[in-house]
Amino acid sequence: MNHTSQPPSATCTSCATTQRLSLIIHNVRYLAHNRYFCTNCLLKNHHGLFCPICFQVYHDSPPPHHRLMCLRCPSIAHRSCALPFSTTTANAASVPVFLCPTCADHKFSYFNISAADRISRTVDDKSFKVLAAASRIAAVSMSKGAAAARFEAERRAVEAAVARKRAKEAMEELTSIQAKEEEENSCCVVDLNLDARLNVTEE
Ligand SMILES: [Zn+2]
Ligand SMILES: [Zn+2]
Ligand SMILES: [Zn+2]
Repeated sequence: MNHTSQPPSATCTSCATTQRLSLIIHNVRYLAHNRYFCTNCLLKNHHGLFCPICFQVYHDSPPPHHRLMCLRCPSIAHRSCALPFSTTTANAASVPVFLCPTCADHKFSYFNISAADRISRTVDDKSFKVLAAASRIAAVSMSKGAAAARFEAERRAVEAAVARKRAKEAMEELTSIQAKEEEENSCCVVDLNLDARLNVTEE
């Protein structure tokens, strides 16, 4: 069990890239499990939480008239960011067709660091935005995971208390039933004795 507390040598669960190659491996709460994702896989698995063009992480999803949704995946982009990448049909009233970068090109990667970046140990502005978005999504998912774990523990404690209360009530009920039965039985015994005694006196 001890080995679980230590990051599994910082390898992406999804693509198996290492921290050395992808710079950061994020620890995220994903589908109720703790996972390790590289920046690219983290963003690809969290479409809809950020704009794939400007990399702003959404607090709330942008309102319908300010967003464009990818035709093929849950990705949501700011309308203003996506318009240059979308195609409009002849009918001006129709919604522009938008494909997120991943759906437009399946080889697309959100985060690439070049050999030069590696040597200079710097990342450009765009890569920095991508890293920041991924880190933010990871942080939010972990705090939600912690909140969910706390909620689960509280729920279990409440359930345990309710179960204890029910058990106590059931025990009390049982005790009173037993007491009543015993009382009834002892009445019968008394009555029988009385009958017996009456019989004796009558004879
Ligand atoms: Zn990966
Ligand atoms: Zn945007
Ligand atoms: Zn897409």
